[in-house]
Amino acid sequence: MTKIRTRYAPSPTGKMHVGNLRSALYEFLIAKHAEGDFMLRIEDTDQERFVEGATEIIYRTLEKAGLTHDEGPDKDGGYGPYVQSERMKTGIYMKYAKELIEKREAYYCFCDKERLSSLKTEVVEGKEIMIYDKHCLSLSKEEVEANLAAGKPYVIRQNNPQEGSTTFHDELYGDITVENAELDDMILIKSDGYPTYNFANVVDDHTMNITHVVRGNEYLSSSPKYQRLYEAFGWEVPAYVHLPLITDENHKKLAKRSGHSSFEDLLEQGFVAEAVVNYIALLGWSPEDNREIFSLEELIREFDYRRISKSPAVFDIVKLRWMNGEYLKTMDFDTFYGMAEPYLRQSLTKDFDLKKIAAMVKTRIEVFPDIAGQVDFFESLPEYDVQMYVHKKMKTDLGSSLEVLQELLPILERQEDYGNDSLYQTLTDYVAQKGCKNGYVMWPVRTAVSGRQMTPAGATEIMEILGKEESLARIRKGIEKLQDA
Ligand code: GLU
Repeated sequence: MTKIRTRYAPSPTGKMHVGNLRSALYEFLIAKHAEGDFMLRIEDTDQERFVEGATEIIYRTLEKAGLTHDEGPDKDGGYGPYVQSERMKTGIYMKYAKELIEKREAYYCFCDKERLSSLKTEVVEGKEIMIYDKHCLSLSKEEVEANLAAGKPYVIRQNNPQEGSTTFHDELYGDITVENAELDDMILIKSDGYPTYNFANVVDDHTMNITHVVRGNEYLSSSPKYQRLYEAFGWEVPAYVHLPLITDENHKKLAKRSGHSSFEDLLEQGFVAEAVVNYIALLGWSPEDNREIFSLEELIREFDYRRISKSPAVFDIVKLRWMNGEYLKTMDFDTFYGMAEPYLRQSLTKDFDLKKIAAMVKTRIEVFPDIAGQVDFFESLPEYDVQMYVHKKMKTDLGSSLEVLQELLPILERQEDYGNDSLYQTLTDYVAQKGCKNGYVMWPVRTAVSGRQMTPAGATEIMEILGKEESLARIRKGIEKLQDA
């Protein structure tokens, strides 16, 4: 059996977007599922779109996402160079373009800008494209040679027939047939000598023995032209998997500016890499049993590209937040603490036991920035409405709360040990002596020490963190508030 070889072939044009990462992930999973090789190839032939530093982002993102490549510019596997601008210098693209010219499957085109701009245009998928009229196809061999000898600028174009049709196969979409007359004579080699993406991807996928090509379905409409190139060369066509569009909640294409469309932006917003990767895996793919939480190892085992859906996938930040929360819950504490600490320190400057606070919030947050809202009351007692003491289910009202706090104050003043266990004992002894329910006492105490309706821990755990002095000050404040009410 042939070894499965997949490639992630990004263009270094900026941040790595969710859609790019999904292609990389699926390519990685297809390869690893079959114990094949996952390769990284940098497609930098479009020099105008090249962005300084973008290649580093690609490396960083793959590493953080755990998508280790077996081959690439930094790991030679015998198929290099792995950067298209370096491949170009080996003459590979020109060599194959000339082979096509020999076969009348391609031709030199010397048309200048003026002539091209006078040609008909057509609107294809919202973009205005020029339809080349095959003018230069009729040049004689001698004319071509004279032009080349005179140093006239040229491009090399694919020669698509006016008759017949071309069929190509996509693993998800099945067979797709188009009339050849609809295929424009796309440029294979540009006037700067660089190949176009359209040409380079075919030459490279073939010469690098790629078996599966996964990419966004914006390439679907060009695929018949790639098919014609493969056929012209007599090369075996790799399996194509064109992925569904990723949209936002409003079913519009996920905009690059949406704020959470790039992997690094998401990490900066406090998401965990594993959770983002898990979530992205489900943007278009689902397992048979609709399970949702997968480690990368589990994805490798379960991933079957035949189960990728053709319908657009909605990027739902609420769902991603939920998933991230699930990851935080099961994360081991030390890792969690390492990541949470900077966020805790941002909200808490006093000498608190941050580890204890981290343990309190671990199961209550979805992303790290949620920490602030959970813990800020430790730093200073927030302004709160006295009506918060009234709780129907706990059977508390302003009067009962005042009574409880006033009775507890001297007891808590006498108490030496402000550890949670011993505070809890004190409060439950008081509950027993009063013959009431726990909540009747715990509710007003927790309200007084936190000023919050919802807290990441119970009254006595909060008091332990605050310490004796601050806890008493807050209880006295509560008594004052209740007396003034
Ligand atoms: N360089 C192309 C891009 O970044 C890759 C498309 C492909 O995977 O073939 O969109």
